[in-house]
Amino acid sequence: MLKGKTALVTGGSRGIGRAVCEKLAELGADIVFSYAGNAAAAAETQQACEALGVRVLAVQADVGKGEAVEALFAAVLREFGRVDILVNNAGITRDSLLMRMKEDDFDQVIETNLKGAFLCMKAAARPMMKQRAGRIVNIASVVALRGNAGQVNYCGSKAGVIGMTKAAARELAGRGVTVNAVAPGFIETDMTAALPEDVRSSMAAGIPLARLGRAEDVANAVAFLASDEAAYITGQVLAVDGGMAM
Ligand code: NAP
Repeated sequence: MLKGKTALVTGGSRGIGRAVCEKLAELGADIVFSYAGNAAAAAETQQACEALGVRVLAVQADVGKGEAVEALFAAVLREFGRVDILVNNAGITRDSLLMRMKEDDFDQVIETNLKGAFLCMKAAARPMMKQRAGRIVNIASVVALRGNAGQVNYCGSKAGVIGMTKAAARELAGRGVTVNAVAPGFIETDMTAALPEDVRSSMAAGIPLARLGRAEDVANAVAFLASDEAAYITGQVLAVDGGMAM
């Protein structure tokens, strides 16, 4: 159980991030979550978590910008005095084939997905090391392990997240801070809703467990890695993908 703990989830307004907020709140953690700009969705997450009886703070903050991340962590420490769990979930796609991919599409995806996770891990490291305890869970993707046509930028960013996870795990282990990654497969959220039906069904056909994933499937894995029970697990990548990447 996570009572008395504070969890910070980036990109908590929708999809996987919202499910993670709700799961950690259900386990008793106070929740701080960030979002890019969708205030209506953020309000829904906030209400859902408050209904579970925990304190909730929603902060609009672009994770790719150093000043915004500093302000986000300042707000967490001011309001809650500690940060026990960090879930780096905020992420975007800007898909196109390599030959057509614009430099800006590459930069934006790297800035949000890779630099955003770096900035948040950096900001969390000091308070977690001082506490001599902490859990960092980075949301990667199964495509970092397998590759995916049309996603050179996204696959690069998520493979980078896995590399950073392992490096940070080695740096922070001595202070009781674990750093792990969860690699979701094909999960039903706004991010995947935009895909045409034939793409969705052909992807589903390649999943041994024969269904698309739900945000809750990912949230359950994150909750385990964020728990006291996962104290002896660090630097790992846990695929939550119905068997896609084995
Ligand atoms: P989603 O439904 O598109 O939600 C994205 C969330 O990230 C929203 O809360 C959004 O805020 C926030 N966000 C986007 N850019 C941000 C920024 N610069 N700063 C702060 N917050 C930002 O995405 P999802 O499908 O839940 O994906 C969540 C994570 O799982 C991502 O890292 C994604 O790459 C990863 N993932 C997803 C799948 C999948 O199949 N869905 C598979 C593998 C990995 P607003 O609401 O304000 O826009």
